[in-house]
Amino acid sequence: MVLTSKPTMLNENRKTKDQYFKVFFEQSGSCCMILDPNTPDGIPVIIDANKIAYETHGYTRDEFIGRPIADVDDEEGKKMCFERTQHILSGKPLRIENIHVRKDGTTFPVMIYADRVDIKGEPPLIFTTEHDISTRKQMEDDLKHMATHDSLTGLYNRRVLEERLNDEVIRATRYNHPLSVFMLDIDHFKPINDRYGHHIGDSILQDFSKVLEGSIRNSDYAARYGGEEFIIILPETSLSKAEEMAERLRKQIEENSFSIEGNKNHKLTTSIGIATFPEHAQTDQDLLEAADSAMYTAKKAGRNQVKKP
Ligand code: GH3
Ligand code: MG
Ligand code: MG
Repeated sequence: MVLTSKPTMLNENRKTKDQYFKVFFEQSGSCCMILDPNTPDGIPVIIDANKIAYETHGYTRDEFIGRPIADVDDEEGKKMCFERTQHILSGKPLRIENIHVRKDGTTFPVMIYADRVDIKGEPPLIFTTEHDISTRKQMEDDLKHMATHDSLTGLYNRRVLEERLNDEVIRATRYNHPLSVFMLDIDHFKPINDRYGHHIGDSILQDFSKVLEGSIRNSDYAARYGGEEFIIILPETSLSKAEEMAERLRKQIEENSFSIEGNKNHKLTTSIGIATFPEHAQTDQDLLEAADSAMYTAKKAGRNQVKKP
């Protein structure tokens, strides 16, 4: 839109206020909708919407106008929509984040601002502007992921591991449940870096992490503790069960084929130290130290072994 004179609403010679409103409504970068809340069930219907609003939701204008803003089959959603509508009609604007559903069933996050509008003594309407905040949400999720996961392997990082272990020790103490921890260190990893280069070492660490992730249960947590050392927390797992699982994991790694420069048959082994609450330690730090010393015992005993304190 090109304005050659001062763009004031008082410039009645150029356009009436209604015409200005129409232009602003249509050309706003936000989804703008006018809703009529005066319906039998109190769920507002859309009585006007700009192009960006119906296109963002995947509808044509004709399909969009007249639609209720809550799914008629979703009782819970309708109840919440009704309460929010009453809130707005009581004169309090609403500013919330919500999830909207497109015509094809896919969803996207929106920031909604909705307010009551009174025109010439007629029943009140609701004016709402909405922004698709997918990009911001995605960035927030990425940042959260970066803060909690190791960037090379995608496993939990050391900080999350320590928080989780602390929580699990508190839970195990309160409910008198067992809790086990594995400390794993890849055997003879340095020669891989020295022989093939750091980037191959990195890809081995990624493949190794996938084997770990594939072998643990949903309730277990795998984390990269540092370099080529990994920790697995196994809530509600006794020493005998942990020994059985560690042995299975050791074997799985031994039998797995890792790929190095086209050679898909490279073999690796790992030394695993187990520590169990309450037998070996009663605090998170002591559990880690006990698992670490058990892992060194496994190294000294010839590597590719599982040891407990
Ligand atoms: P051991 O059998 O006693 O465990 O010997 P090792 O060679 O596996 O252990 P050592 O502690 O001597 O070497 C670990 C190596 O891990 C040294 C370091 O260069 C390498 N390393 C640590 N972090 C990374 C990483 O992020 N990427 C790569 N490629 N290598 C790493
Ligand atoms: Mg090692
Ligand atoms: Mg090491």
